[in-house]
Order: sequence, then C-alpha cells, then structure tokens
Amino acid sequence: MADPRRALVLFSGGQDSTACLAWALARFAHVETIGFDYGQRHVVELECRREVRERLAERFPQWSAKLGEDHLLDLSLLGQISDTALTSERAIEMNASGLPNTFVPARNLLFFTFAATIAYRRGSNVLVGGMCETDFSGYPDCRDNTLKALQVALSLGLDSAMTVETPLMLLTKAQTWALADDLGGEALTDLIVEHTHTCYLGDRSQRHAWGYGCGVCPACDLRRKGYEEWRAGLVSS
Ligand code: ZN
Repeated sequence: MADPRRALVLFSGGQDSTACLAWALARFAHVETIGFDYGQRHVVELECRREVRERLAERFPQWSAKLGEDHLLDLSLLGQISDTALTSERAIEMNASGLPNTFVPARNLLFFTFAATIAYRRGSNVLVGGMCETDFSGYPDCRDNTLKALQVALSLGLDSAMTVETPLMLLTKAQTWALADDLGGEALTDLIVEHTHTCYLGDRSQRHAWGYGCGVCPACDLRRKGYEEWRAGLVSS
C-alpha cells in the first residue's frame, strides 16, 4: 500500500540523491525533485540530474507516473557567502577544524528550508535528502539530530507537518548500493553507475566499474570502496 503523501526530493544527480529518489518513488504517491544551482564548478552535475530523471522514468514504468516536476533554484548567492573548493578552483584539503574545505557552512539547512517553501506550495509534506552520518566528511548539518531539529522548526514555522526523511542517514556507502539493488535491481544499480555523478573534480572522462570520476578525490574514493565492498557481498541492506 503506497503512502498517499507527496514528497519533494533534494536531488543533485549524484549517487546518494538518486538512491533517495528511487526510495521515494517506491514509497510515496507523488514525487517531485528540487535542485540547487549555486555556481558549482561542474555543470556536469546539473546535466546528470536531467539524464537520471529521464532514465528512471524510462526504465521504471511503475515510477514514471509518480515522478512529477523538477524545480531548479538559482542559489548563486551562496557564491557570495562562501569561498570553498566547490565554488572556486582551490584544491580540496582539510581545514583547521578537520572538515574538508568543500564545506559551505550549514548549506543543508538552507537547502531544506528553500525546499520546504516549495513543498508547502506544491502540497508536499515530506522532504527527502541523502544526508548521511557515516560518510566521514563530518558535516554537522548532515547529522540526524540537526535535521530532526530542522523538521520541528519547519513544521512550526509553516504551521503544517513537514517530515524530513533521510533514508541514508545510518547507511554505509556499500549499504547504499545494496539499497538501490533492493529497490530497482540491476537496472537501478547500472543506471547509478552510468548516469550519476559524485566526483568533486567533475571528471567524466574516466569510466570505472563504479562509475565515472577522477578516481582519487575523497568522493570517488568513498564511492569506489562502497561499490567494491557491496560487490564482494560484504553487506546486505
Ligand atoms: Zn573524483
């Protein structure tokens, strides 16, 4: 029995948010997506969004009828309030607080808040995001308690229940592959390999078993390790 609610998925075109989109499509009656353009170095990420949505609709007819509009917000103002590896050509390194300098302070709180305003207008009362406590990047705005607190703040501020769902919160990268496999089998894991993008450097010139990427940045490293662990049968979801 499908959940009759409508959901809005924070969707970047990466592996994690694609798994979340499939998770939402398998569960909710109607699913829309939202993306944020904030002057990322890599237009490739935004191209992957379109490609992934189209392929999902094509390969999963049971989901295509539920997949609704895509919303793309211009958040170029984030470029004005941050200077990080995501928005400039600076190399990725750890800063003094032990966080990668790809960190845009509290950006997930901003993303969810913008998403909530759209969801409210669109009659959705579930927000879905691919944040995860186990990917070791240490972003405090990805933590379960941060997002539970935000759920309360949004529900009060909108005077309407807004549920924040983070299906990957406690999963390892290997378990995220296993989750995709459970949801859509090889058709979905192949789609993730072929069409999603995770590499910090925006490299799509090299195709590995786990997908495209430079192979050496922290995002590629996590994706590769998770894939290999999943393929080796070391996890089940
Ligand atoms: Zn990479």
